[in-house]
Amino acid sequence: MHEVLIVGAGIAGCCAALSLARSGCCVTVVERQPRWAFQSSGIFVYGNGLAQFRELGVMEELTAAGFVVPEGRNSYLQADGSPITTTRYPSPAPGIPAILGIKRAEMHRVLSARLERLGVPVRLGTTVQALDQPEPGRVQVRLSDDSTRSFDLVIGADGIRSGVRALLWPQVQPAYSGFGVWRSVHRRPPGLVDKIMLMAPGKRLGIMPISADRLYLFGTLPESRHARFDPADWPRTMHERFAGFGGPARPFLEQLTGADDAEVLYTAVEEIVMPLPWHQGRVVLIGDAAHASTPFMGQGGAMAVQDAVVLGRLLAGGPVDTALRTFGELRAPVCRFVQDVSRRVGESGAQAEAHEANLRSLVEGGQRAVDGFYAELARLDPAAAAERPTPP
Ligand SMILES: Cc1cc2nc3c(=O)[nH]c(=O)nc-3n(C[C@H](O)[C@H](O)[C@H](O)COP(=O)(O)OP(=O)(O)OC[C@H]3O[C@@H](n4cnc5c(N)ncnc54)[C@H](O)[C@@H]3O)c2cc1C
Repeated sequence: MHEVLIVGAGIAGCCAALSLARSGCCVTVVERQPRWAFQSSGIFVYGNGLAQFRELGVMEELTAAGFVVPEGRNSYLQADGSPITTTRYPSPAPGIPAILGIKRAEMHRVLSARLERLGVPVRLGTTVQALDQPEPGRVQVRLSDDSTRSFDLVIGADGIRSGVRALLWPQVQPAYSGFGVWRSVHRRPPGLVDKIMLMAPGKRLGIMPISADRLYLFGTLPESRHARFDPADWPRTMHERFAGFGGPARPFLEQLTGADDAEVLYTAVEEIVMPLPWHQGRVVLIGDAAHASTPFMGQGGAMAVQDAVVLGRLLAGGPVDTALRTFGELRAPVCRFVQDVSRRVGESGAQAEAHEANLRSLVEGGQRAVDGFYAELARLDPAAAAERPTPP
């Protein structure tokens, strides 16, 4: 039985704890935040990520807490609400939805409850201050409460600003993508059940159901590296940025400046592009710490849970050092593919002058592009290869 420390209780850390605990490891999780509190708003999880959540035994609870989009439908509209086309995301296997929307806080409620049931200790308000590997096969860790403990393996699952990465790979830094994302949460009218993308020159605004009575709005556009917005002004600024959008988005944009608390959130999007190896001795990085992506393919969460499942399988099946090397070799091409496609999608959407050409290629080849993306993900990912996407 390996003694494993997981740093960070986000999607990657919680899922790694579930995956490794099942593989018989003795897992401890430390999380910097003093209580379970995650930036609100929604997240969507596509079928390839849901397949991994099913493997961890939590997919049903997640789908019950979120909203499954019927037939994986994604409706593209002009900024005024007139229709362009509809595509469908593939389901990877019978019984696995093509796309789930869920509040982030709900996802973490499900994951943390499962950790508690498994008896995995999570030490909140705790982080790592120093890592030392004085002998092969052991990592000495000094925690923020000044205690020192030794582990067979340390997993840095502490996100884009990873403290573990900063200790061992200080040269790897987040790179600003040139994009800002604005998000807000609203009451969902019962009839609004599709994922909707409204397309304007240089800007996109999405609507995604995330529960029986909530949806979230997400708007992407280029923002200057130096842009700073006072959080008190976020609702007004989001309203102003997307004022040109109408159709189904109009009532939600209007609510931004009203009394409703729309949980508005601004994020300046950064990426981590890190060469292999993703481990040094017995310390390995997973999730955003190793490969944070721009959000245009909505795949960061799916990549984090796939990392967790693949690492758990490899650790259960052979020596730790081989498992860590193989982990990076298997996962890096998949994560790099997602990063590259996502960046390209963001960049082409940001070019106002390419708007008409983008709409034409969406109508002519939108479904082909979706199917091609998921087919390539399945081809690259040996873990998912057993469950090839079925056509919608
Ligand atoms: C605007 C935006 C929209 C997105 N939308 C989607 C989407 O719809 N679908 C999708 O799949 N992905 C989406 N993503 C990506 C997704 O959010 C991330 O890929 C995913 O959350 C990564 O999980 P993680 O656990 O690796 O990192 P995180 O979620 O960042 O979790 C890291 C955890 O570690 C903790 N931590 C940090 N530092 C320390 C430390 N030093 N010590 C201890 N703990 C620490 C943090 O508090 C946190 O709990 C989006 C990203 C952005 C920016």
